[in-house]
Amino acid sequence: MSIPGTPEQPADLVARLRSTFRTGRTRPLEWRIRQLRQLQALLTDHGGEIADALHTDLRRNEADARSGDIDNTLREIGHTLAHLEEWLRPRPVDVSGIFGPTATAATQYDPLGVVLIIGPWNYPVQLTLVPLAGALAAGNTAVVKPSELAPAASAILARLLPAYLDTDAVAVVEGGVEETTALLAERFDHIFYTGNGTVGRIVMKAAAEHLTPVTLELGGKSPVFVDRDCDLSAIAARLARTKFLNAGQTCVAPDYVLTDPDTARALEPALIEAIADLYGPDPAASPSYSRIINQRHFDRLAALLDSGRLVTGGQRDREDKYIAPTVLAAVKPDAPVMQEEIFGPILPIVTVPGLDEAIDFINKRDKPLALYAFTENETTKQRLAAETSSGALGFGQPIAHLRVPELPFGGVGESGLGAYHGQYSVTTFSHRKARLDVPLG
Ligand code: NAD
Repeated sequence: MSIPGTPEQPADLVARLRSTFRTGRTRPLEWRIRQLRQLQALLTDHGGEIADALHTDLRRNEADARSGDIDNTLREIGHTLAHLEEWLRPRPVDVSGIFGPTATAATQYDPLGVVLIIGPWNYPVQLTLVPLAGALAAGNTAVVKPSELAPAASAILARLLPAYLDTDAVAVVEGGVEETTALLAERFDHIFYTGNGTVGRIVMKAAAEHLTPVTLELGGKSPVFVDRDCDLSAIAARLARTKFLNAGQTCVAPDYVLTDPDTARALEPALIEAIADLYGPDPAASPSYSRIINQRHFDRLAALLDSGRLVTGGQRDREDKYIAPTVLAAVKPDAPVMQEEIFGPILPIVTVPGLDEAIDFINKRDKPLALYAFTENETTKQRLAAETSSGALGFGQPIAHLRVPELPFGGVGESGLGAYHGQYSVTTFSHRKARLDVPLG
C-alpha cells in the first residue's frame, strides 16, 4: 500500500523521517520553536477554513469550532512556547554524598525519534495538533493520521501541515483502517492514539511487536453526581451546555447524572429550561446545534432513546443525522443506555439514595475519563477525591479541566493510558535519560 497522494510506502516514509531525526536537525530549541510558531500561524491564517471544515463534518458552528479546536490548540502552543526552554533544561541531582564533590548528575530529556499520532473525528483538529505540538516541542519527527470519519478536517490537515511545517520531519497520512493497519506494522518510537478502547487494544498489540510505548486517550462513561440542596438552575445550565456541545460527541462530556430521587425530580424542569435557553424551541433549527457524525452512530444512538422515561427531546431525523437534546429519567442501571459510552445527545438520570451508593455505583464500573460533581459540601468533595478513581475530577464545571495546560489530561484503566497537555506532553514524547559523570582524578 502506498500513502495516498504519494508513491511512498509506509516503510519508506518512516525510514525518511528516521533519517531526518538521525541528522539531529529536530533537536535544537530553535527548530522546535519554529515548528510551534508555524503551527500557530497555520491556525491563525486558516481559522475560517478550519471552522468551515468542522461545519461540513459535524455542522459545528463557528464559535464552538473556534473555542473547541482552534483556541484550545493555540492556548496549548502558547503555553509550551513560554515554558519550553525551562522544561528542557537538565535537572541536576546532588551525588556528592555517593561519589564525592567532583561528581555530577542530571536528568536530561531526549527526543524519542519518529512518533505516530492517530486522531479521532470529534475534535479532529485539536486532538491531532495538540499531540503534534507536544511531539515537535520534544524534538521528534511525526506521522499524523487524522480520522477518515471527519473527511473535511482530514483533508485540510493534509493540505496545510506540509505547507507550514518541516516536510522532512512531519508527514500526514490520510485514510482509514487499511492505511492505519499498514502504518502500525512499522516500528515507531511512540504511538499516541485517541479514540475508542477496541481500537486502542489493536494499537497496543501492534506496538507490543516493536516494544513501542503508547499513549491511549480513550473514552468511557463520565458520571455527574448532583448533591442535594444546590442551585439546580445553575447546574442544569452547565450540564446542558457541556452535555449537548457537539451533540454530545465529546470524550469528557457528562455521560449520565447520578442523584437522589428528590433532586432528580427537581432537575427535570431545570434541564428542559436550560436546553430551551441554549437551542430555542426547535434545536433542529438552531445554528448552534451539531449533527451526529454518521448514520452508523445515528442508528446506535436511536436504539438508546427508549432506555427510560422521556423528559424532553427524543425527536430524530436519520437523513439529517439529527437527534434532539434528550433527557431520560428513571433510568435503570441495566438499561441499554447505561451499558456503553453514549457519545451523543442523550442524558440519562439514574437515582441512588445518597453519596455512599453513588460512590459504590461509580466504583463498580470502569474507571471514567472524568468524574464530575455539583456539591458545596467539602466532605463530599474529599470523599469523592479519596474514594474514587478517574482520569480527572471536576467540581462545578464539567469539561473545563482540559482548558488548563498545567493539568495532565488522560484516563486511567479503561479510559486510557498516559497523559498529555503542557509539560506532560513534552515528558510523554521524551525519554528521561539519567546522566552521571564521575571524574577519574
Ligand atoms: P475514530 O473512529 O475516528 O477512530 C480513531 C482512529 O482510529 C481513526 O484515525 C481511525 O482511522 C483509527 N481506526 C479505526 N479503526 C481502526 C482499526 N481497526 N485499526 C487501526 N486503526 C483504526 O474515533 P472513535 O473511536 O469513534 O472516537 C470516539 C471515541 O474516542 C470515544 O470513545 C471517545 O470517548 C474517545 N475519545 C477520547 C478522547 C480523549 O482525549 N481521551 C478524545 C476524543 C475521543
